[in-house]
Amino acid sequence: MKVKSFSLIITLVLWQSLAAAQDLLIEQATVINPYTLTLNKQDVLLRDDRIINVADHISPLEAVRRINGSGKFLIPGLTDSHVHLSMVPGIGIIDLTSSAKQSDLQLAFTKQAPRSYLYFGVTQVLDLVASPESLELTLKQPLHPDVFHCGAVPTVNGYPLVFSELFSLDFFPYFVAETSAQVPAGYDPALHSPEAAITRIKKDGGRCVKVFVENGFGDQSHWPMPSSALLQRIQAAAEREGLPIYAHANAVDMQKIAIDLGVDVLAHGMWNWNQYTNNPGLPEDIRYLLDQVVEQGVAFQPTTRVVGGVRDLFDRTVLDDLLMKKVVPGELLSWYRTEDAQWFREEVRHDGLDNLPDNIIRNLFERRPISQGRRVIKYLTDKGHPLLLASDTPGNPSYANQPGLNSFLELRGMQQAGVALGAILQAATINNARVMGVEDDYGSVSSGKIANLLLLDKNPLETVEAYNSISQIILKGEVIERETLRAR
Ligand SMILES: [Zn+2]
Repeated sequence: MKVKSFSLIITLVLWQSLAAAQDLLIEQATVINPYTLTLNKQDVLLRDDRIINVADHISPLEAVRRINGSGKFLIPGLTDSHVHLSMVPGIGIIDLTSSAKQSDLQLAFTKQAPRSYLYFGVTQVLDLVASPESLELTLKQPLHPDVFHCGAVPTVNGYPLVFSELFSLDFFPYFVAETSAQVPAGYDPALHSPEAAITRIKKDGGRCVKVFVENGFGDQSHWPMPSSALLQRIQAAAEREGLPIYAHANAVDMQKIAIDLGVDVLAHGMWNWNQYTNNPGLPEDIRYLLDQVVEQGVAFQPTTRVVGGVRDLFDRTVLDDLLMKKVVPGELLSWYRTEDAQWFREEVRHDGLDNLPDNIIRNLFERRPISQGRRVIKYLTDKGHPLLLASDTPGNPSYANQPGLNSFLELRGMQQAGVALGAILQAATINNARVMGVEDDYGSVSSGKIANLLLLDKNPLETVEAYNSISQIILKGEVIERETLRAR
């Protein structure tokens, strides 16, 4: 009996010291609470990949490793809830079917991209158009953010499949058709009803359904739209599976369709104002629509970087930005400077902007879509409506939309639209966690949550540049010095 209890004690002591060996104590950092936007000097104890205690003082005896946090600000790692991991800015989609088809530039990109997200403090991403297969390249990298995904249900003949030179049907394994007769040969019609596709998304671990409400960019309306009957079936199937709907829609009329359908998230800002273009202020009809967004609690992704990234193509200094060097592999950055790499800029130019000098084109983007999008964001944030950090990286083939850096530029974009720094911190942390249904694990520095944290030199409630003053990223309890993540 005596021997038995003695060995039990030894086992306990051994177990405790083993557990303690994994512990990390962050001492006396200024912890920012995203719920209350209050600051408190506290100790934070991590064990393995979790936060296990947050208190004014924790005895250092409990921890083996210690970090002196004094003078630094501790916040949860950021969540970017609109990314596309298998798309390379300025190039296109990575061919996942064969590694032989992946160019050296694509491979250099896929190695660096997850590190670039981490470099800018993005420790969680939500890929809105993904499948388990499309995420494999990212997940096999030694360091990467925590990855969540949605399945997208475009219609066979609608946006974005209208860009057949960019997208193949295989990139959208959950595409849907109005009738089985519309399903192209070689695909099983039984898999492509909205009901079957959404059941597969759920089974594959998808957390949401992405629908596309788009009949043409700007004033155009030449692309086939999903019928309202199909949208209703998508809505009902998503509800049955318990999956929120994220809607691609960026024009007034398209967002109205999405809001009337009862989607959970608008996956873009509203920068196409159709008949209201060039109206000063915020037209009453748009205000009425935004009041519905607020009343129905539709979460809002401003995605200021979609248009911002296109504008940046007409600014030759963008590639010289020192922050670009931090996130883009050298060989890819060199390629972006070649004439070949300007294909998308020339495409945009030929879309009605021929013979205009770059500064005039930039100005047109600023005066119309960018300014219009900002007025919508300002209206929503003044109503206290929750916004989400969602950069849409890369939302189009612009090379200006780079992983991580684009998330930071999105935060800056929200500030330029007039969003307060507190609301920006919430957009990047708890708002996304709540909408994604992962608030128990992410979104604040709280006991029990996953230890994805950032130590900053500057206070993000004082300056948006604080998000570029990260000294260490803590990923699942592992401390990473920021500069080790930069591109080579
Ligand atoms: Zn997108």
